[in-house]
Formats: sequence, C-alpha cells, structure tokens
Amino acid sequence: MSALSSSKPEQANTLLDREYSPDTPIPEVVSELSLPEDLSAGRGNPVERAEAVLSEIVHRFGAERIALAASWQKETAVLVDLVQRVAPAARIFTLDTGVLFPHSYAVWREVEQRYGFKVEAWKGEWVDGLWDADPDRCCHLRKVVPLREALAQADCWLTGLRRDQSPERANTPEYAWDELHGLFKAVPLATWSERDVWRYIFERGLPYNKLHDEGYSSIGCTHCTRAGEGREGRWAGTAKTECGMHA
Ligand code: SF4
Repeated sequence: MSALSSSKPEQANTLLDREYSPDTPIPEVVSELSLPEDLSAGRGNPVERAEAVLSEIVHRFGAERIALAASWQKETAVLVDLVQRVAPAARIFTLDTGVLFPHSYAVWREVEQRYGFKVEAWKGEWVDGLWDADPDRCCHLRKVVPLREALAQADCWLTGLRRDQSPERANTPEYAWDELHGLFKAVPLATWSERDVWRYIFERGLPYNKLHDEGYSSIGCTHCTRAGEGREGRWAGTAKTECGMHA
C-alpha cells in the first residue's frame, strides 16, 4: 500500500502512461465485463457480484494499477474490505479537502489500524470560504484536481457509487471508460441497495462513519453537508448535486 502523500508520486511503467486529452483513443482493453454466467444475467448475490467485478479488473490491469477512492461514507467501509480480500495490492487514496467531518477523519484512522496500511492523502489548493462564494470552483480545486493527480498512475479506479443514490446515478455502469479522467472506472457496488451495504458492514463488524447514525445518509465536507436521506443533504438548498468527479 502506498504511503501517505500530498504530492504527485513518481511515474511508474503503466498501461496508460498518458497526458490525457479528449482525443486520446480508448485503449485496446475489452470494455465489457465478463462475469460468471450466473451473475451476468441479473443482479445476483451482491457480494459475489462485487467480488466478480473486482476479480475481472485485477485480471485486466493488475492490482497495483487499480486505485480505490475512499470517501469515508458507508460504501468505503465495504469497498476497503472487498479490496483487501480480492486485490490487497491495490492503492487506496482519499481526497482530504481539509474540511471533512471529525467522524470521517476518525473512521479513516480506524480503517488504517484495522487493516494495517496508510491511505494516500491528496490535497488541493486551499481558498478560504470558496465553498460559499463558488462551490463549483471549490470542488474543482479541492476534489477534481487532486483526483486527477491521484489517478495519474492508475489504469482503473474504483468508486462506491450506487444506482439508487440519486436519479443522476441511476444508470451508472459497473465498468466503463471514464472519458473525464482518461482511464477505466469500476463501480462494484453499482447494483447494491443501502440495505446490502449495511448488512455487509454489520455482518463483518467493519468500522464505518458514525455520522450516518446521526441521520446523514450521504457525507461530504462540513460546509456542504446536512443530515438527510439519499443525497438530499449535499449542497442542500442549491441546484448543485455533484462535485464534478463523476461524469
Ligand atoms: S463539498 Fe463544499 S467544501 Fe468540499 S470541496 Fe466541494 S464546495 Fe468545497
């Protein structure tokens, strides 16, 4: 696992060493998942399905070329555990905006202690109060730019998006070329329900973000998150619904 870092690591040999631009051709990697027959027809057992997605990605790219983005929401608890079992050499990183909830920093430390690794921390430019003045710009500087840097050495990234989180996410593919960032993106929990997530966490006694117990279904930065169902507590009272990391 990579050490704590707030700057761009050195370049390594890569499948996709790239200066990405929209004209960059999609690499010759099969863009469809080939899941076992009993899973490909329907949703199937959610844990087996997520494991199959991860196994496929490891087979295609090698675990070292996979990077999991940890948001410290409940889905992160599941994905960290799955990755530790299926792809323990994969990188795990987080975007530390500097204004995460104390609960998020606490579960970050708990995860490191439980699994015995350091999560990579990537930070963007700090402009005080930008979350009020220009939240899109704030997300760009503090999330999108450092995300791009964190993904520069990856060929496939993993996120904890789920289709039932919001209408904008209802068609999220489990695996696709990510045009926005110029690498593949896998979403092993895309078909999971909220109940699936909690069942996995409680059956295994995993550390999770305790802010969920206070009515926060979705958790981001302190200035832009309120308690609420689904993603209704994110940028509540504004038209903004996403931070710009997901096309
Ligand atoms: S969620 Fe809010 S504080 Fe966090 S990066 Fe976006 S605008 Fe800034």
